[in-house]
Amino acid sequence: MSKDLSPSAKKQLAARVSYYREMGIYDFYRRPSDEGVQIPLAAAPEPAHEVTDASPLPVIQDKPSALKAIREDIGDCTRCRLHKGRKNIVFGVGNMNADLMFVGEGPGADEDEQGEPFVGRAGQLLNNMISAMGLKREDVYIANVVKCRPPGNRTPEKDECDICSPFLLRQIETIQPKVIVALGAVAAKNLLAMNDSMANLRGRWYDFRGSKLAVTYHPAYLLRDPRQKKETWKDLQMVMKYLGLKPPPKSAEE
Ligand code: URA
Repeated sequence: MSKDLSPSAKKQLAARVSYYREMGIYDFYRRPSDEGVQIPLAAAPEPAHEVTDASPLPVIQDKPSALKAIREDIGDCTRCRLHKGRKNIVFGVGNMNADLMFVGEGPGADEDEQGEPFVGRAGQLLNNMISAMGLKREDVYIANVVKCRPPGNRTPEKDECDICSPFLLRQIETIQPKVIVALGAVAAKNLLAMNDSMANLRGRWYDFRGSKLAVTYHPAYLLRDPRQKKETWKDLQMVMKYLGLKPPPKSAEE
């Protein structure tokens, strides 16, 4: 730790590092700064109160800056093999103040092309699911466990998820949605660190880092097996009840 930091800044920094450790984030990347620019923490005024381990973490950044910092930390990432085949890093999209966040597995071909999650066929179905909940795509936040397309749309491997998921956890920590919906087994198992079948994982609430988390089927799976749409709708209705959402009125043509 730098000698230039004041004792209270050192304490704040240590608290933040241990917080990230607790989230399973161990790697930190130094962002380049202009030569001669002071580290803001060193210049920060002494807090009026004593910072103890039990005190709430200082809010270092607003949401746009925090998300920008996460994206900058990802950089032109080469941390895992997925970078070799990608066209675009697919960071995440949507309302950074959303109550509801969807987490998918990883980008497919369309997402890789456009740099945005869920824009292909599965994305169309996700948009329909969001509309059925009485929301618009712009109301929610959408991200994936891995930010680069696995070759041939294969399932991302454990080490790829482990390397990339700290960025997802930081996105979740920044957005602080009331509800996270894990779409499919990869998202559910990675977030919950549980290895169970989808049938067992879905249909109930989990407490997840200050948010509620629900698991449902991945839209790509629903395209292959539309019979599970009924079960998915039950999961979404559970979310709607919690968030106080009502389905939109049916239009005359329906
Ligand atoms: N499937 C996912 O899991 N994520 C996407 O962004 C697109 C398809």
